[in-house]
Amino acid sequence: MDFSLTDEQIAFRRSVFDWAAATVAPGASDRDKDGRWDHEVWKSFGAQGLAGLPIAEEYGGAGGSIMDCVVANEAIAEGGHDGGFNLSLGAHWVIGSVPIWLHGTEEQKRRWLPGLTDGSMVGAWASTEPEAGSDAAGLLTTAVRDGDDWVLNGTKIFITNGPIADVCTVLAKTGEKAATAFIVDTTNPGFQVGRELDKMGCRSSPTAEIALVDCRVPADCVLGDEGAALWQVAFECFDWERTVMIASGVGGMQATLNSCIAYAKERKQFGKPIAQFQAVAHKLAEMKVKLETCRTAVYRAAYLKQTNAEHQMEASIAKYLVGELAVQNALDAIQIHGGYGYLRDFNVERALRDAKLGSIGGGTSEIQKLIISRLLLGDS
Ligand SMILES: Cc1cc2nc3c(=O)[nH]c(=O)nc-3n(C[C@H](O)[C@H](O)[C@H](O)COP(=O)(O)OP(=O)(O)OC[C@H]3O[C@@H](n4cnc5c(N)ncnc54)[C@H](O)[C@@H]3O)c2cc1C
Repeated sequence: MDFSLTDEQIAFRRSVFDWAAATVAPGASDRDKDGRWDHEVWKSFGAQGLAGLPIAEEYGGAGGSIMDCVVANEAIAEGGHDGGFNLSLGAHWVIGSVPIWLHGTEEQKRRWLPGLTDGSMVGAWASTEPEAGSDAAGLLTTAVRDGDDWVLNGTKIFITNGPIADVCTVLAKTGEKAATAFIVDTTNPGFQVGRELDKMGCRSSPTAEIALVDCRVPADCVLGDEGAALWQVAFECFDWERTVMIASGVGGMQATLNSCIAYAKERKQFGKPIAQFQAVAHKLAEMKVKLETCRTAVYRAAYLKQTNAEHQMEASIAKYLVGELAVQNALDAIQIHGGYGYLRDFNVERALRDAKLGSIGGGTSEIQKLIISRLLLGDS
């Protein structure tokens, strides 16, 4: 299995990293403190031609491969030091735009994709509910057919980009065991953005509750097959989250390690740089081992996805590893920085708070172990 990057991908990675370092990183600390989304950074992201990276060129996208998306996501996280920006872009790409591209009718694609791919629109996805998190099938939101329309009622929670999205794919129950995906224009009066959630990390990405109050949408808003949202559209979203979106965790780990190497060489105690103490040097080595373990797992899962090979096990392994090891690396980074690592002035403190989401969003670590064990036991 050869998933080494091509020369073109290496050059692309470098240019995306440079853009993120120049545009995303400078205000990252302030945006984190204020819990503030910056639309100017998003506009710049769109101007770089990155907002539609995964989407086919005929719909305005850049037609990037799965590995291109992984490399870009990783480079933005490494250069930008802003888990929130990566969360918002991941939600926009992977669960906001890709489902419309893969399952939309020609009319739906022509309506939504040009705006999503040039960055003038922001995408979102709403499946999670107060009573339906890991148990995605436990939806209580309903969609009832009324003439040529559907009427949606219910509450969604943890919706990334909820307050800024122009379009949101909403999952609702349309039968005892059936859920349907609906593309909802967020200017619809029945799509009501509720409380913005005050998060521990990824704070520059807005997350909200959404109330669907007699939200009337025309029948041509159904995305994919009626009643097939869970196994068709949502299943694919989880797959993209576990192969492409999770790459931001790898970039975050690299950024954290880079900060630690620089700090350990510079900080002196007992008359020499702390990097010369074996305890510190070994911590750096352990961080590198964990980083490369995660990177290899993510690239392997992404490569298999790109080549249309079976990869459910590999995707869950990658998601689980990044979710757990990124937190361990961030904790080690704080230890290497001593008291300064405990301060908000240094990126490593934010890195820990941002990294923790990796073990929760897009399927928790426990759910990944459930999937892996079911596949092992032939019980999937
Ligand atoms: C910042 C953020 C952004 C998000 N963005 C979005 C978004 O854009 N759109 C969206 O739809 N959702 C989004 N989510 C929701 C996210 O996918 C859910 O939080 C996640 O799936 C877990 O659901 P839950 O929070 O309800 O936890 P629960 O499912 O209640 O889990 C609680 C605990 O129980 C464990 N558990 C649950 N079931 C099992 C089981 N069968 N076996 C073992 N352990 C189990 C879990 O692992 C966890 O430790 C986001 C969440 C966050 C925090």
